[in-house]
Amino acid sequence: MRILNPDTTTPDLSYDVAVVGSGAAALTTAATAARSGLKVIVLEKSQLLGGTSAVSGGMLWVVDNHHAREAGRSDSKAAGREYVQAVARGRGRTELLDAALDYGDTMLRFAEDELGVKFIFLDNFPDYRQDLPGAVLGGRTVEPELFNYREALGELAEYVRTDGRHPYTMQEYENWGAFTRFPWEQLSSRQDAGFAAKGHALVAMLLKACLDNGVTLAVDARVESLVSTADKIGGVIMDDGTRIAAATGVMIGAGGFEWDRELADSMLASRLYTMCSPPSNTGDGLKMAQRVGAMTRGTREAWWAPMSLTGTLRDGEQVGSLLRFERQGPGSIMVNRHGQRFANEAQNYNDLARVLQSWDSPNNQPLNTPAHVVFDQSYLERYGVLDHRAGEPTPAWLIEADTLQQLAAKLEVPAENLVATVERFNTHAVAGQDPDFGRGVSEYDRYWGDADSDWPNPSLGPLQYGPYYALQVVNGAFGTCGGLATDGNGQVLDVDGKPIPGLFAAGNTTENPFAAGYPGAGATLGPIMTLAYLAGRALSGASADYQASALEGAGAR
Ligand SMILES: Cc1cc2nc3c(=O)[nH]c(=O)nc-3n(C[C@H](O)[C@H](O)[C@H](O)COP(=O)(O)OP(=O)(O)OC[C@H]3O[C@@H](n4cnc5c(N)ncnc54)[C@H](O)[C@@H]3O)c2cc1C
Repeated sequence: MRILNPDTTTPDLSYDVAVVGSGAAALTTAATAARSGLKVIVLEKSQLLGGTSAVSGGMLWVVDNHHAREAGRSDSKAAGREYVQAVARGRGRTELLDAALDYGDTMLRFAEDELGVKFIFLDNFPDYRQDLPGAVLGGRTVEPELFNYREALGELAEYVRTDGRHPYTMQEYENWGAFTRFPWEQLSSRQDAGFAAKGHALVAMLLKACLDNGVTLAVDARVESLVSTADKIGGVIMDDGTRIAAATGVMIGAGGFEWDRELADSMLASRLYTMCSPPSNTGDGLKMAQRVGAMTRGTREAWWAPMSLTGTLRDGEQVGSLLRFERQGPGSIMVNRHGQRFANEAQNYNDLARVLQSWDSPNNQPLNTPAHVVFDQSYLERYGVLDHRAGEPTPAWLIEADTLQQLAAKLEVPAENLVATVERFNTHAVAGQDPDFGRGVSEYDRYWGDADSDWPNPSLGPLQYGPYYALQVVNGAFGTCGGLATDGNGQVLDVDGKPIPGLFAAGNTTENPFAAGYPGAGATLGPIMTLAYLAGRALSGASADYQASALEGAGAR
């Protein structure tokens, strides 16, 4: 265990609160509890702070938030409730849905006013399921401001996890459109000057709040188990046997179990081929709480997403690359093992991944996989694909062929099907339509397209000339999102549904409120930080009174 700010430690490692992990869930609880005067330690298993949160987009989905109200957007908790119930297909647990909806904006205000985490409002980011009641065209998503993390964190900055990408906000992405139009030089200078964006900025701001409020931060600090005292959970034991006392309680924010491949294979509804969280997310939080009698819920679920394997490493392990514009930009399609399109490629990643998971029972094989994104030279020249740009040597993960027939042979799909699929798609794409799967109908699809393209629908365009390219698509996930059952204060429940005294949890270690659904951009971090904030408040002893007044003040329900 390496303590990064030794001046904050207590001589006998006795704290009020011990927090397991250092993603957005853990840091939100830590900073909230510390802000109310509690002595808190954050224990991070890997060498770096921030978890998946630090390499994420950092967006938060918060229904009826004050930024939207100030911008004159009309939203309400009632509309949000109707929408999330539809998205969760009636399977979300009411107590968690209520907590996420009723306290989302309270958390946002607290993060801004008390913790100094600053957000930008994304006015135009549409909810993911425009077809469901209560969806809005924009206003529920916020993202972190650009943040000079090096200036703010000093020597500790080097311990913050980053994906190393150029720092730009989603708002800037909206303005610039395609990656080929990005001011890369300006972004490099910004990076050199120590700026962070997205999840990196979010984590850095939360860490700053932790430092300002005296939280002890430790890396290389793997929590092995929980300490049960006579009447509560009262501390943790590290993997080297060190005991850390936590007089008020322990909060687990240890991420999902996706990197325990055996556990993931046995629990998840579908086979997970890759993920992009740090390999240290091995379900430790789940296991340590189960040992003291915790109940689990919703463990079939993950934040699913179509991904490709392009050799990106995280802590030495290969992680997936999320496919977004690559399947949503005009001029690319996705085909299945038969060389045919099988879904609206531009729909949200969570729903699209579920189509990838379909099983062909009569033939006892996957219905759609292996699947590939297919595009042409004109697409590559205009947009590039992931980090690859036209004119650079074709990377090993990209399959290239001069003709569609040759590409089909390389993909081992029937050539006549691939050719017919592209011809049919092209015929309709130039007219701005997709009669087969309705791509480009939803505002969500159009948002992710290219408004400056040469074609009538920003989501659709023809594949025009070779060489042609393909990229294999696999069923991936940001991380799992089922686990410990908690109440609306983030307190862990035992197998009989009773709170386990002194034990709190939030984030991907716990059951997600939306069950199989994914309502909008930021729908993991929004509720995660809300429940983590409520856990921090509850640990501070403020839960009942504070929540009653916050609820009244927010005019909730
Ligand atoms: C590319 C990408 C983009 C994304 N974009 C968004 C977005 O814009 N908005 C959104 O809402 N969601 C987004 N997500 C999903 C989101 O990042 C995660 O759902 C969220 O960060 C999970 O947070 P967490 O705090 O639960 O866990 P994590 O951030 O994963 O943190 C868990 C931490 O616990 C540590 N840990 C594990 N076991 C132990 C142990 N035994 N002892 C001590 N520490 C331990 C881990 O090392 C890790 O650091 C994205 C994900 C990815 C990969």
